[in-house]
Amino acid sequence: MAVDFDLIVIGSGPGGYVAAIRASQLGLKTAIVERENLGGICLNWGCIPTKALLKSGEVFEKLSHLGDYGLSVDKPAFDFAKVVERSRGVARQLNGGVGFLMKKHKIEVIEGVASLQKGTTAPRVQIALKAGGTRTVQAGSVIVATGARAKAIPAIGLVGDGDRIWTYRDAMTAKAMPKSLLVIGSGAIGIEFASFYRALGAEVTVIEAMDRILPVEDEEVSATALKAFQKRGLKFRVGARVTGLARSADGVSLTLEAAGKAETLTAERAIVAVGIEANIEGLGLEALGVKIDRGHVVTDSHGGTGVAGLYAIGDVAGPPWLAHKASHEGIHCVEHIAGKAPVKIHSPIPGCTYAQPQVASVGLTEQAARAEGRKVKIGRFPFRVNGKAIASGETEGFVKVLFDDATGALVGAHLIGEGVTEMIQGFVVAMTLEATEAELMATVFAHPTLSEAMHEATLDAYGMVLHI
Ligand code: NAD
Repeated sequence: MAVDFDLIVIGSGPGGYVAAIRASQLGLKTAIVERENLGGICLNWGCIPTKALLKSGEVFEKLSHLGDYGLSVDKPAFDFAKVVERSRGVARQLNGGVGFLMKKHKIEVIEGVASLQKGTTAPRVQIALKAGGTRTVQAGSVIVATGARAKAIPAIGLVGDGDRIWTYRDAMTAKAMPKSLLVIGSGAIGIEFASFYRALGAEVTVIEAMDRILPVEDEEVSATALKAFQKRGLKFRVGARVTGLARSADGVSLTLEAAGKAETLTAERAIVAVGIEANIEGLGLEALGVKIDRGHVVTDSHGGTGVAGLYAIGDVAGPPWLAHKASHEGIHCVEHIAGKAPVKIHSPIPGCTYAQPQVASVGLTEQAARAEGRKVKIGRFPFRVNGKAIASGETEGFVKVLFDDATGALVGAHLIGEGVTEMIQGFVVAMTLEATEAELMATVFAHPTLSEAMHEATLDAYGMVLHI
């Protein structure tokens, strides 16, 4: 059967564009359809531009305690418009980078909105072209990598209005620095924006329905994060469910319910960060018989949807909603399509929150291990006794590790502190290689580094810690 392409990928986020590159490497004639910007949310409206903002906030915060390092400057200041423009510039640079990669790998970029119809080898893709008109193409396989968007809860006013009630997009392109801010939700998005705006001096209150902030993290990490953020002047309302949000005369007014009591909070602006929902609409998935569960496409271990030739990867295929999970799934899916049996490897997925301090984790939390009835050995090491951390004046936080009691396998690592979003990768490699405490103990860690705390935490789990 003649086809226009071997593979069409719908969506060019970190799932889709990485899948397209791998397909091209494997010799598949590939096209990618994008309705907005190459690079998706990650490069244009998520991971990357927020890291640029957070860096500005971090540098500014450092300036406020230069005296600790024997340094001084006259009155530190910032130009908010320039902070935002730097972040947009970084996003533009990476967006251009994806365009370059598509050309380099001879991947045809089709600008427009795709939908699916019954086809031959796979569903046929109809594209309403940005330039006008439609184009219909048939490929051997189709990967849906359409991602997700900010969740709105209209019934209680949790909907961005592009002015005072912000979604993450508004929050990263604000025209002016707000004096006061309410952040609804203490997941990665809420905490990162709260951290950024607080670093630049806004009065920020984070409202979280669960009984602790960063509720997916280990309880000890949540507790330490809470204290560290409070020390920086962030305010929190945990166990507080937002029941209403609306514009007021000069800002926003929020009602919440905590311990059975209703309360009202006001501020200049609010950020809605109560999760995300998959982009499944308008694709024609239902008509093709694609199974949808809790708002996302149900897939098998290769991304297969059960419909011949149709695959789904990344956010649209369910949690965890992380760029690196999408890329990983994309590569795996394409290798399967190309008939190259992907090597089955245990691949744990790390999670990172780039606030100040940073949070990073992989594998089981202590609470999850307990819930599974799994016996674990736990080790901890605080940065306050790590030489490099003391020399750097960055002693907040700790490393916590969990080993299976019977086998010694590393089953979880939870870190909070300076630079831990880079350090976590050491534990991710160890878990992927199915390392036990023996390999980690035998690993030589460079001195002086913050990473030595990883070694010490491992030693601590077995009663052999050296520097406490
Ligand atoms: P989230 O689901 O992680 O957190 C949302 C929080 O809002 C939850 O803790 C929830 O309890 C709370 N909430 C919901 N309704 C509420 C209400 N009415 N009142 C008070 N609190 C309420 O979602 P997110 O932070 O919006 O992030 C979305 C996804 O994007 C997540 O899966 C996250 O992992 C991912 N992400 C990752 C990064 C990163 O890796 N650094 C950054 C941004 C986003």
